[in-house]
Amino acid sequence: MPPQMPPNAKTNPNGSGSYCRFTPGRSAPPVDGTALLGPVGVEIDVGPGQPRRVWHYAVLKTAEPIRPNAIDLLLSSLDEPGASLFVQGRDFAANLKDRAPHLSARALAKRRWLWGVIIAAILIAVIVASFAAGWSPIKSIAGSLPGTWRQRLGDAARESMTEGHKQCADPAGLAALARLTDRLSKAAAVAAPFNVRVYDWPLMNAFAVPGSQIVLTKGLIDTAETPDEVAGVLAHEMGHGIEMHPETAVLRSIGLAAAVQVILGGGAGGGLANAGVMLAQLGYSRGAERKADRHAYELLKGAAISPKGLANFFIRVTKKEAENPGAANSPAFNWLRTHPPAAERAKLAREQPDYPAAPALDAQSWQALKSICTTTIEPKDEPEK
Ligand SMILES: [Zn+2]
Repeated sequence: MPPQMPPNAKTNPNGSGSYCRFTPGRSAPPVDGTALLGPVGVEIDVGPGQPRRVWHYAVLKTAEPIRPNAIDLLLSSLDEPGASLFVQGRDFAANLKDRAPHLSARALAKRRWLWGVIIAAILIAVIVASFAAGWSPIKSIAGSLPGTWRQRLGDAARESMTEGHKQCADPAGLAALARLTDRLSKAAAVAAPFNVRVYDWPLMNAFAVPGSQIVLTKGLIDTAETPDEVAGVLAHEMGHGIEMHPETAVLRSIGLAAAVQVILGGGAGGGLANAGVMLAQLGYSRGAERKADRHAYELLKGAAISPKGLANFFIRVTKKEAENPGAANSPAFNWLRTHPPAAERAKLAREQPDYPAAPALDAQSWQALKSICTTTIEPKDEPEK
């Protein structure tokens, strides 16, 4: 198609274009204007005295692929990174699709399909290599997923598992949590630090999701009597992360095809919601729990935090369970329920040798962490990393 094609008469009956709302950047307010389909790109006019912008067709992007029945569009462009353009008009959408065919739903589906084929080929190669080497294939695949894929799986799993709960965001509490996370991450000597979030959720729970992400609940922080106890639980969940237990569990539960869908941005879907339920309720094998515990004690030692915190936590929740049989099956004790057998692990915790240690957090930071849920944010307001 020649780029000199004149603007479509239907889109632009009087040369006035379609109504648009142009946002120059994140901090700048949007302005009203008109957009029309010029010879080489979308021409944006936001009033007298303002330069007329041209966003070239080849470098346009849409928030959503243009479907045949689209009535409006949200556009961005490599010509002006950070800016966005909202345009109303069915004809504008239809005619833009002719000029920038890469924006159509069909083109996007084709690209996704192509990526799906490439990823499937890589995964098959990994499976074959894994079998040849005599490894557990799912664990090997989990371990060989690129960081960004693990991140996407983790985001989707976390969102599905924490649905309906706000994220805690008191600044002093976040700073305290970051200090504790840093201290343990350094001891773990991992390439990228763990990403720990607290949710305003009365359930006593803590879990790791793919991509070195960990979720703690307000219920858990409320139950903890010392910062060392929180550090112990956190170190245990980091142990799961180091072993890629969440990645393995998600792949095992939803399968490769669904995981690829999630990685490609096909949405969480039912499959991942199930994976969330699985991670939250079934927990891991005893062997996996022992490995996570071993890491936990190593991390605590590396960070010079007493292992007694984890021990005390086990002893207390186990006692509560004994005093009130069945409590462990109540939703309030979720973490305990996914971490059997508590008595055996409490014993192991007690047996840990003592070493010089400093409190996981000073008194002031501990109070701040306890108050982290005095400010909450909606999940969608989470700042970009
Ligand atoms: Zn565990």
